[in-house]
Amino acid sequence: MRNDVVIIGAGHAGGMTAISLRQQNYHGLITLIGEESYLPYQRPPLSKGFLAGEIEQERLYLKKQSYFEKHNIHVIKDREVLGFDRDSKKVFLNDRKQIEYGKLVLATGSILNKIKTSCRKTNLYYLRTITDALKIQQSLKDKNKITIIGAGYIGLEIASIAARKNINITIIEMEDRVMSRVICPVVSDFFQKKHETEGVKFKFNVSVVDIEDNHNQKKIKCSDGTVIDTDAVIIGVGIKPNVELAINSGLVCEDGISVDENGQTSDESIFAAGDCTSHPNNIYQKRLRLESVHNAVEQAKSVAACINGEKKPYHQVPWFWSDQYNLKLQIAGMSQNYDQYIVRGNMEEEKFTVFYLQNKKIIAVDTINNLKEFFNGKKLIALGAEISPEVLQNKDANLKELIKQY
Ligand code: FAD
Repeated sequence: MRNDVVIIGAGHAGGMTAISLRQQNYHGLITLIGEESYLPYQRPPLSKGFLAGEIEQERLYLKKQSYFEKHNIHVIKDREVLGFDRDSKKVFLNDRKQIEYGKLVLATGSILNKIKTSCRKTNLYYLRTITDALKIQQSLKDKNKITIIGAGYIGLEIASIAARKNINITIIEMEDRVMSRVICPVVSDFFQKKHETEGVKFKFNVSVVDIEDNHNQKKIKCSDGTVIDTDAVIIGVGIKPNVELAINSGLVCEDGISVDENGQTSDESIFAAGDCTSHPNNIYQKRLRLESVHNAVEQAKSVAACINGEKKPYHQVPWFWSDQYNLKLQIAGMSQNYDQYIVRGNMEEEKFTVFYLQNKKIIAVDTINNLKEFFNGKKLIALGAEISPEVLQNKDANLKELIKQY
């Protein structure tokens, strides 16, 4: 069977590549192959509304089955791609089928970082798929005490849902503060206090040595010598790009599959999009590897355009969000290497903005419950704006007016 476009990975980027191709009036044959049993779906609700039982599974899907049928996108579920051959342009599936491609898109996402443990898998959870979320959902119904390993956004979002169910929650984190990879200490403090007010306990600067079984419970052995008895353990300790297929086929990879601004890899017939890639970004003048929906969607659009004979280079301000309790955290830009940060607004009112500056230029913005400033902040980053800290700090200074000056 010969296909014009074969997409490996039916997640957010893979699904959006197929959808974008049709939206951009591409008429060739498209096959989308995924190892999960679901149509392409959004993962963010898995640690938010879906886990809380507020969003139904049907609402997670990017499109219904009927859309894929109507637009002649052939979706193959429950099949793993074991490899591909660049000379014969063939993809090999785990049911021994082979599919020929004209253009290949790698949208293989990420792989969870795992912790080595000597315990059984019961009551030990990771969160990446709908299936994982359903298991955790059940666990939150019948457990009294859970321990979350990792105070990143996934661990904290799960905690904020479990806290509403009056579950005793402890979070173990090897760094000295929450979300340390993405936000500054003052915002970490703010989120930590919110969680503590809701009854969540933290253990910082501690890593897990092992997890053992204790009848139906788990015993977590920590690096500071303490032992935590718990009913269930949920682990959220990051991910890494899923590049195995790309490496095996000799494509250039460096912290992700290396692609250009159109998502093209070192082989001109092969593209990649989403979590698995590293791409150039001319706003930051460096290569980025991002783990976000915005990245998956926008890169997919660029890949689709290039396959369709048009160029829509992807150079945008990255953004991300996290929902915890009544707090909506929105992050635009990359705050790493900031040399100054400015808080605008009142933290006690739970509505404020933090600007991150590097050599006076705004490089990133965190907003808490402040949608308007998030959009304005994102524009200021894209413009490479330099605005004095006094002005940024002044709540009455109109950011929209400042944008007009650029
Ligand atoms: P994925 O959506 O992970 O899709 C990759 C797919 O490829 C998977 O289905 C995988 O099974 C399949 N695959 C891999 N290898 C093969 C193979 N060999 N054969 C067949 N299939 C294969 N982002 C945000 O911006 N905001 C959020 O609030 C947010 N919250 C999140 C919460 C959770 C719980 C999770 C897990 C992620 C969250 N993210 C969030 C991240 C976001 O969902 C990802 O960045 C996005 O899904 C990346 O899309 P992707 O297509 O690159 O990868």
